[in-house]
Amino acid sequence: MTARAGTSHTSKRATTIPRVRQILAILAREYKSPKCALVHSSPLELIVATILSAQCTDARVNQVTPALFAKYRSAADYAEAPAGRLEEDIRSTGFFRNKARALRNLGAALVRDHHGQVPRTMEELTALPGVGRKTANLVLAEAFGVPGIVVDTHVRRITQRLGLTRRSDPDHIERDLMQVIPRVSWNRFSLRLIQHGRAVCKARNPRCEDCALLRVCPEGLSRV
Ligand code: SF4
Repeated sequence: MTARAGTSHTSKRATTIPRVRQILAILAREYKSPKCALVHSSPLELIVATILSAQCTDARVNQVTPALFAKYRSAADYAEAPAGRLEEDIRSTGFFRNKARALRNLGAALVRDHHGQVPRTMEELTALPGVGRKTANLVLAEAFGVPGIVVDTHVRRITQRLGLTRRSDPDHIERDLMQVIPRVSWNRFSLRLIQHGRAVCKARNPRCEDCALLRVCPEGLSRV
């Protein structure tokens, strides 16, 4: 029983890994210098921008954050902000009451537990209010250079279409991807897929005919 399960696992990895290499090579060729679309200049600014980006485009967040970051320069500034004023400052990102509450709670937790600094570990980041693994991985990767796979809506959709995961919840998808993507590629892999999701592999009408990944994509081959 054990031997059969082991054989099956080995055979799956043996057929998957070359295809993963092809996927990584194609993405690297298509998106040479991937970078985070949220404009920021510090870990605190990135975590704030990420919270604001829920149910909102990065472009809209980038319109709001220059004035916001000029006004709120520290975790304490968010913690002590009057709720109504902070809500007005982020209103155009949508769900502004929830987001303002999240930012105030985040600021308070950073002041209380981390001397106002953004921590550098997954455990500490995900213990912060409003911070899940997606945000934590983005902050670790972008702000601290720690390898991580950010599973946002684009990464989730495209990795399912590419057959790299059959799971639907982000935590399980992240674990599946960590098994097959080399650690050194984790950060750029996520950023490249996010770019690909915006440009080509859109949710409703993926442009499979124009997609460089078509020959290694089961979903694309079934569509064209
Ligand atoms: Fe997405 Fe189609 Fe490209 Fe596959 S071939 S990654 S489904 S656009």
